[in-house]
Amino acid sequence: MTSGAVEAARTILTRLHEVMASRSNAQSKLNNVVEVIGESLDSEVCSVYLLREGMLELFATRGLAQEAVHVTRMAVGEGLVGTIADQTGTLNLAEAAAHPDFSYRPETGEDKFHSFAGVPIVRRERAVGVLCVQHVEPRRYEEVEIEALQTVAMVLSELITNADLIDEEDARALSAGQTGPVQLHGLTLVKGLAAGVAVYHQPRVTIEHVVAEDTEAERQRVILAFERMREQIDRMSNQAEFGVGGEHEEVLETYRMFAYDEGWTRRINEAIDSGLTAEAAIERVQQRTRMRMRQIDDPLLADRMHDLEDLANRLLRIVSGQLGTAASMGLRNDAILIARNLGPAELLEYDRRRLKGVILEEGSLTSHVVIVARAMGVPVLGRVRGLRGVVREGDQLLLDADQATATVRPSSGLVEAFEARFAKSRERQAVYAGMRDVLATTRDGTRINVMINAGLRDDVTNLNLTGADGIGLFRTEFQFLVSATLPQREKQTRLYRDVLEAAGERPVVFRTVDIGGDKTLPYLRHDDGEGEENPAMGWRALRVALERDGLLKVQARALLEAAAGRKLNVMFPMVAEPWEFDAAKAVFDGQLDYLRKRRKVLPEAIRYGVMLEVPALAEQLDLLAPKISFLSIGTNDLTQFLFAADRSNPKLAERYDWLSPAILRFLKRVVRTLDGTGVDISVCGEMGGRRLEALALLGLGIRRMSITPAAVGPIKELVGKVDLAEITEAMAGWLAAPPADLRGAMVAWAAERDIHVD
Ligand code: PEP
Ligand code: MG
Repeated sequence: MTSGAVEAARTILTRLHEVMASRSNAQSKLNNVVEVIGESLDSEVCSVYLLREGMLELFATRGLAQEAVHVTRMAVGEGLVGTIADQTGTLNLAEAAAHPDFSYRPETGEDKFHSFAGVPIVRRERAVGVLCVQHVEPRRYEEVEIEALQTVAMVLSELITNADLIDEEDARALSAGQTGPVQLHGLTLVKGLAAGVAVYHQPRVTIEHVVAEDTEAERQRVILAFERMREQIDRMSNQAEFGVGGEHEEVLETYRMFAYDEGWTRRINEAIDSGLTAEAAIERVQQRTRMRMRQIDDPLLADRMHDLEDLANRLLRIVSGQLGTAASMGLRNDAILIARNLGPAELLEYDRRRLKGVILEEGSLTSHVVIVARAMGVPVLGRVRGLRGVVREGDQLLLDADQATATVRPSSGLVEAFEARFAKSRERQAVYAGMRDVLATTRDGTRINVMINAGLRDDVTNLNLTGADGIGLFRTEFQFLVSATLPQREKQTRLYRDVLEAAGERPVVFRTVDIGGDKTLPYLRHDDGEGEENPAMGWRALRVALERDGLLKVQARALLEAAAGRKLNVMFPMVAEPWEFDAAKAVFDGQLDYLRKRRKVLPEAIRYGVMLEVPALAEQLDLLAPKISFLSIGTNDLTQFLFAADRSNPKLAERYDWLSPAILRFLKRVVRTLDGTGVDISVCGEMGGRRLEALALLGLGIRRMSITPAAVGPIKELVGKVDLAEITEAMAGWLAAPPADLRGAMVAWAAERDIHVD
């Protein structure tokens, strides 16, 4: 702002403050407001239009005919006033009548006024009214005057809300009319459909007070908020929201650039000098930047604008103390979460009954947040570019993750079509649910073990709902992720015991903690406190457990005690060399000894196994095989290491295919190595839950799969259609001489046999 603008705004704000503090009713306050603004800007006309029943109604005026008040009404998009509301933009015209949208209203007597300037009155990012000035003389208004008007419009927004002068529903309806339906495209991360309302994971702050009581105090608040924000950014490299490496570093760099930008701080301080509160000043500057950016059509700049919006929102959250995520604020029961990205722990904070879907700007198929969402049965659409620019808090959304789309502010026709698809999808789900008691058996009569992946106490109910053969992977770290502190041994024992009890005769494979990578815990950090450059290949899983063996000891004891008198299956994650298995098992043996000496009831039998996630282990499997009872292939990590492609990096999300000769040949070799050793082999990565991929696994000789519960029905159905000899032979052919498009070849093969694979 120029110093003239600061002064002009300050004078008006001081007078408006008096008007607002007066004891008069809302209408007389508005009447006074237009007088004050008109006088201060030396303007012959000053009018306020507010939204009522979907129309912009003249609520107060100085200079136009008083008879027109509450009589003149404009549709959104109609006339100059309607255009300002429609586009949430400013108009500054020397000759109003020359504008193509000009619409003359004789009852107002405005024909003698030539020049016109108007700004939107914005509430929760929506225009709820328009403030305008007019002059007899044709003249363009100075920047100073427009800025003063914009500042005043913020004050009006507060007055209007406090006095209940507009209806929030009206504002929503207006917003729908403003932009209409928009279709977004992305990448399906978790299939499913959902209809609901957009909820920002990091909620947009609503500004309650605009005019400052004590300017110096507001200044101090902003200084402190900037300090805290800069600290946060310096610490951010490790946060899930930002993932790791590459693209994310660029985002952080941009954040740093903005956070330390002196121009930004200066403008906010000037806005405070003009009489605004810290919150209003931040928003005021942001509004101005938004308007300027709208005139520049450059996608790169638009991306940066999102970053600046993020940061302004972060600053607002700090300054206003509204720090929690939407999870901590009582979620509505049809929420569709909007975020750039999320960590698994953040997602787990949400009530799964209320959360209907998630839409992310980033995300990849095997990132843990997606695995958690899949386990929660929540559809996820990822990689939606420009998401946060299009969707506003409270927008109606139709999420069709099956078709990788989402519709924002749908028309009634679109809602109807969606409902029809939704009904179809529910029918299909019902068919799968009806397969609960069907055992997965191939056409030639081979029994296939279909188990589920789980991680939380409630997940166990899925065993009965799906009729799965057991829990092939219980991710014990989930309880660590949902807890603010390290879970105590007793608490762990209770969880494991409950799970075993609920599973009854069906086996449960407990995987010891797999922390690290994209599953970070604030209370468990690397000793040197530094972020790792490659956390997926870093200090995680068994590597942490062996170094901090206290953690593993506690878990071992909890598992052994929980399984007293029962069968226990223990699996170690990320084993790269046989000695790691030996070391981990020794921890269990130590605890077993301890319990034995104290004459405690021990498990009836203990089976130990490992996950094959690190390719190096495949080279020494023959050495490990005599020591283990089972091996489960974690295709999520295995593929990221085989291809050297970070599983959380959205840029690589679509690049490598599970149905590539490299992966399939690798898996085949592992199956062959273990053939005849007596070691049970299974697959527990996300690959097994997808039909075409599961078909490939059957062709490779895999007879056990542990998959996400929602996939149990579809996979059972698939299994029933497969002839093992046939797919085994076909797979041998594809592996010996891989076709250029192996996936395509498999799709065609399945189609010829009427096997549905999508
Ligand atoms: C895997 O890596 O495939 C796996 C099942 O483990 P997680 O996804 O928990 O890393
Ligand atoms: Mg893994």
